[in-house]
Amino acid sequence: MEDKGLETVLKGISGSPGICIGQAYLVDREGVDVVEKYNVPPDSIREEVNRFKSAVKKAEDELIEVIEELPEELHHHLTILESHLALFKDKMLYERAIDAIREECINAEWALKKVATRAKAMFLDIADPYLQGRVDDIVQVSDRIMMNLVGVEAVNIGNIDKRVVLVAKDLTPADTSRIQLERVKGFITDRGGKTSHTSIIARTLELPSVMGLGNVSALVKNDDIIIVDGNDGLVIIDPSDETLLEYEAKKHRYELRRANIKRRSKIPATTMDGVTIKLMGNIELAEEIVSVMDNGGEGIGLFRTEFQYLSRSHFPTEDELYEQYREVAELIFPESVVIRTLDINGDKALAYVRDNDEENPALGLRAIRFCLQRPDVFMTQLRAVLRAAAFGNVRVMFPMISGVEEVLEAKKLLKEAASQLEAEGIPYSENFEIGIMIEVPSAVVMAERLAEEVDFFSIGTNDLTQYTLAIDRGNRKVAHLYNSLHPAVLRMIKQVVEVGKKHDVRVCICGEMASEPANMPILLGLELGELSMTPQSLPVVKEMLRGLSFSEARKFAAKILEETSISGVTSMMESFVYPEENENGTPRT
Ligand code: PEP
Ligand code: MG
Repeated sequence: MEDKGLETVLKGISGSPGICIGQAYLVDREGVDVVEKYNVPPDSIREEVNRFKSAVKKAEDELIEVIEELPEELHHHLTILESHLALFKDKMLYERAIDAIREECINAEWALKKVATRAKAMFLDIADPYLQGRVDDIVQVSDRIMMNLVGVEAVNIGNIDKRVVLVAKDLTPADTSRIQLERVKGFITDRGGKTSHTSIIARTLELPSVMGLGNVSALVKNDDIIIVDGNDGLVIIDPSDETLLEYEAKKHRYELRRANIKRRSKIPATTMDGVTIKLMGNIELAEEIVSVMDNGGEGIGLFRTEFQYLSRSHFPTEDELYEQYREVAELIFPESVVIRTLDINGDKALAYVRDNDEENPALGLRAIRFCLQRPDVFMTQLRAVLRAAAFGNVRVMFPMISGVEEVLEAKKLLKEAASQLEAEGIPYSENFEIGIMIEVPSAVVMAERLAEEVDFFSIGTNDLTQYTLAIDRGNRKVAHLYNSLHPAVLRMIKQVVEVGKKHDVRVCICGEMASEPANMPILLGLELGELSMTPQSLPVVKEMLRGLSFSEARKFAAKILEETSISGVTSMMESFVYPEENENGTPRT
């Protein structure tokens, strides 16, 4: 931490690039916008209703106190405050929220959010301006109750109608995927690392973010001015005028450079000596396809399907899954999409799966292990994939494979799902490529045998690094040790590529390592023919590859593979001559 006048500079981990400047909004203390939804067991419903009633009672008492202490000069506001008092017990909010808790077995916060949203919409639909004005009253009243429910101090919620920088201890991937882009400029968190799923989503949403800041959520106050420099992993709280000006200019230059590179994103990634690398995008939601196409992606190399399972209270149905897969397949046509089957647990636990509190979630019932133990859940997804495959451009990929049995078992269930659809006369196709993720060290060791079972390998360097180096990818205490450029990881990649060549199995990297332009000389030199990455990285990675020579990169990779330490690898990478860029992002000749 560095103090420059009143400003405080904190160094964290870059979660997502870009620069933003805005006012802080503390999620954890105020937290009325990011509300959690969960199911309440039937025998606790009474208790939940009582919890709601006491939150309302407390809010009423607080407001009565405000009214009683209202200074003379503000008495003309009395009617508004009294109308708020009446609203607390208004049928539309009070009774409906209680009904929702009882009938839908949901928590009080969610029930309140739901009825308040409905009530707001109803008033907004009415043409009368007076009634439209009541929307603000509903917001204020429901926020007051919400603050009591989530146990936070009253703050002026009215101030957050501007675009803010979220400040939180931590954001779960589900929180992040619910972020309203029009209200959030970027975010900073105490916890988290570069390859945590939260930062992956941040990159997809193009939200500048810095993570792993330690105790930033305790240092920052609401409305503090914050600069988030996601490029250098820096956060500046209460910047001086001089720093503000400097960063405004930096932000402008960065955006200009990105825009220039983006303009060239449709040009293929062909090296100076004529080798073309296929570059694809990673997505979590169907809406992100636009970003893959805009940034020049040639298909989707990783569709993380678990996000359709998060942010809800039950498993999605086959039709819901099918609709999304079909939409993705249709939109990306004639390019293809690799649908990765469910990779939940680890850092993506589902609230509605009981018994998911494991001591070591990353080593627990995650991904394919969960699916093989819950064939009911898995078959629903496989049937949806098979149905979407009728569109002709779908591939399937199994995550976290650690050995041959898991692949055989998964393929057996896939066949079984196909037979069911056949018997039911539902259109489907099983004529598609099957791949696995190589992200557990045992899969690298067994790659020769695994190659006999599949059409392609996709190396998940995020998990491969985590499991090879025994470093939790989301733990900031060990984040400085987490590095995909570790010689062990590089040698594993080399080994997998060699197996792929020998058995005619395509090899791709879809971990975050592929999103980093500086890694291109080594990945090109290791002879990876395909890379799949955060869509926003596509233009800059393409630009980098176009400036490289394949034959030079091969020689370079051979030398790097002789290195035995991360520092040796990184200093060699630094000494590699990159195609230099000027301020506008055009290579110098
Ligand atoms: C990986 O592990 O590298 C990967 C791409 O999968 P995920 O990040 O979803 O675990
Ligand atoms: Mg993974």
